[in-house]
Amino acid sequence: MFNNVRELLFNLFIVFLPVIIYPYIMKTDRENGHNRVIIAIVFSFTLVVTMTFPVVLNGLTFDLRAVALSIGSLYGGIYVSLFLYAVVLVYRFILGSPHQIAYIISFLPTFLVIIWFVIKFQGLSLIQKMISSILVYASIRLISLTTYSYLIGNLSSLIHTNFLYFYGVIVAQCTISGVFVYVLETFKRNAQLREEIIRSEKMKIVSDIAASVAHEVRNPLTSVRGFIQLMGKDDLTTSNRQYYQKICLEELERAEHIISDYLTFAKPEPEKIEVIEMKNEIDYVANVLTSYANYQNVQIIKQIEQDELLILGDKNKLRQALINIGKNSIEAMPEGGILTFTAHSINGHVVISVGDTGIGMTKEQMNRLGTPYYSTKDKGTGLGTMVSFSIIKKMQGKIEVKSEVAKGTTYMITIARLNAS
Ligand code: ADP
Ligand code: MG
Repeated sequence: MFNNVRELLFNLFIVFLPVIIYPYIMKTDRENGHNRVIIAIVFSFTLVVTMTFPVVLNGLTFDLRAVALSIGSLYGGIYVSLFLYAVVLVYRFILGSPHQIAYIISFLPTFLVIIWFVIKFQGLSLIQKMISSILVYASIRLISLTTYSYLIGNLSSLIHTNFLYFYGVIVAQCTISGVFVYVLETFKRNAQLREEIIRSEKMKIVSDIAASVAHEVRNPLTSVRGFIQLMGKDDLTTSNRQYYQKICLEELERAEHIISDYLTFAKPEPEKIEVIEMKNEIDYVANVLTSYANYQNVQIIKQIEQDELLILGDKNKLRQALINIGKNSIEAMPEGGILTFTAHSINGHVVISVGDTGIGMTKEQMNRLGTPYYSTKDKGTGLGTMVSFSIIKKMQGKIEVKSEVAKGTTYMITIARLNAS
């Protein structure tokens, strides 16, 4: 009995394995179909293991192949489904199971059922998806078993032996299918929700910084205007005119720079993992924050190791994380102060620090930092730090905060360094 329970639990574990791996599958490249390849591999593995170690209960041998087959097909699509069918048939042949032809004939019609559901599946609601997975599973089971039993001349024994028990097992497996879809969809929704928060928090930063950008752009415009007026004077020497013109161009360039940095940050970008040169990013982040810092009398200092500091990650997300942190630092210095960005390499890691000379935090405040909706500001969302922490964590980085009241706060981010080749 215990042996059977152990087998059953093992099968359940194997069948639920894809759920654990699913968040990683979601991260993989969808456009090139990489995620489908991974779904196909993971579910093939599940199929092979559950077919190798079937469960024997009350003289009835069964495994959870149909659960893996139906769910793998629903989430992977038609090609993955075809592949999984091939895996089942080939592996059954390798195992030397009898009545191979009868099995193929009884099994293939279920493919049509799956295809019908696969086409509709993506647009369904959670409940509809759960019901579909149960229906797909039940129909695979019923169609293939009845046809198979009929073909091998065993139909009567299928109906007579262990009737209740037999259908009990099917109902249990239907439940497993439904629960599987529920857990998987919940994981998926949580991941989507997190992305949603990251996006909306970015829009908040974009709108917070907008006023200071507008202000910052007005300064060069005002000086350009002054110089153009000067250039209109009759008694202007050539060298003076050239000098005024040079200043005008420089000022306009500066305004253009501020606006273009701001706009590239505001623009939504798809997720992309690439090699990031840390020095460029810190320059970029400092540029985006410069207007905001000037607005609040904060001076920005950068100390960056000359070596190439390369890491791997999503550039736009990293920028967002650093801008969140830098923006908090600026806001922590209402009387002005110094915001310092540093980047060094230590023991195969890149360590980035963002330090301020602001109001600092108490122990209690530090403990709450990074928890959702914790904010001490009138118009704060309390999501900025949480978003930054989650971005750094997703890059397999570490983030530490040191703070002293009335002295200032320093954020230290540690991320694995990529060797330049
Ligand atoms: P928000 O900025 O919208 O308040 P955050 O999640 O970005 O939300 O920050 C949460 C809180 O953490 C802030 O309200 C502030 O009290 C505190 N905090 C974050 N960074 C600093 C810092 N550098 N110095 C002092 N307090 C900080
Ligand atoms: Mg903030």
